[in-house]
Amino acid sequence: MLSERQLFLRHIAQTSDAPMMLEIEKAAGVFLYDTSGKKYIDLISGISVSNIGHRHPAVIAAIEKQLSKYLHLMVYGEYIQSPQVQFAALLTSHLPANLDSVYFTNSGTEATEGAMKLAKRVTGRTEFISFLHSYHGHTQGALSIMGNEYWRRAFRPLIPGNQLLHFNRQESIDSITDATAAVIMEPVQAEAGVVLPAAGFLQQIRKRCNDTGTLLIFDEIQTGMGRTGSLFCFEQYGVVPDILLLAKALGGGMPLGAFIASAAHMHQLTHHPVLGHLTTFGGHPVSCAAGKAAMEVVLNEGLVNGISYRQNLFRQQLQHVSIKEFRSIGLLMALEFEDEVFCKKVVSSCIHSGVVTDWFLFAPQCMRLAPPLTISEEEIGQACESIIRAIREVSGIN
Ligand code: PMP
Repeated sequence: MLSERQLFLRHIAQTSDAPMMLEIEKAAGVFLYDTSGKKYIDLISGISVSNIGHRHPAVIAAIEKQLSKYLHLMVYGEYIQSPQVQFAALLTSHLPANLDSVYFTNSGTEATEGAMKLAKRVTGRTEFISFLHSYHGHTQGALSIMGNEYWRRAFRPLIPGNQLLHFNRQESIDSITDATAAVIMEPVQAEAGVVLPAAGFLQQIRKRCNDTGTLLIFDEIQTGMGRTGSLFCFEQYGVVPDILLLAKALGGGMPLGAFIASAAHMHQLTHHPVLGHLTTFGGHPVSCAAGKAAMEVVLNEGLVNGISYRQNLFRQQLQHVSIKEFRSIGLLMALEFEDEVFCKKVVSSCIHSGVVTDWFLFAPQCMRLAPPLTISEEEIGQACESIIRAIREVSGIN
């Protein structure tokens, strides 16, 4: 009989020649447990999904409650489904007034697609501006604006008319014109290895968008729901987008994304054509019930308040000459090493010693640290000890 490991390689479509291959049996809080009983501390939260830890009791209770009522009922937007309505009401009550209408999707990349379609309808324009090293998803619209040619080349032709600009460069701003439908950007570039906007950059983009009638789309799929030390990252920069993209942690561990805009803008999806965006499972009631419970945990447990303290614990304990730079916002952190080979050796060694981490798609020389926001001081101490041990081992420097 084939082992699950063999079946995985045989029947699960492989997209990499080096999958992590951890065989996880159970997850709870900040810990993963594999089938041999080995315990791992999860420092990446399934790539910024498990912001409140795995299987938080409040999320499980909300899922169970919804399971006893109904699962899928009808395609998007037809029936009044309480979990969707209640979650949209909660989300919008924590957003600026212009972000009052939520379209729930299945995933982050679908939120990007929906936002691009909406921007075309609202502005009547077709050109998009995005930034080098940005990541907005892997479907063809999202690939068209991805900030790295390597991932796109094989799939051309993609959507034409997009410009890729340098993040944090003044001349980028001048490229926004009255032909630009939307500027789409991560306020903090995650897969670039946690690159923060320079002082005034987001504000200047906002102003230029206002001057040219261009929509500003913030992709907070990775930075949203508390990850960066505020519920939404844009709050820290005082710049409000016209469309906000959320996913990942939005569903509390269940699949869920959203694009959020003003009701006036969203109205464009109701005509010419009617059903301007359509999805069968978007806003699944179980996902929405889970997402609302997860957001309530972030709010009620004041999780964002503890973030800078936790980040400082990581900063203080992760000191070594091999760490070239420590970039961070909240609990989204990147440790930069001399190169990809060094980083991958440290990551492997960490995983071997029970600390799950990885690198960034566009910054393979940087190690990702994005633990659940609930991680304790003691757990941070243990994790940092293992990381430093791994760095010493790989560098040969104490
Ligand atoms: N935007 C950003 C910033 C992301 O980090 C991701 C996922 N890594 C996506 C979009 C795409 O989300 P999904 O994988 O749910 O399609």
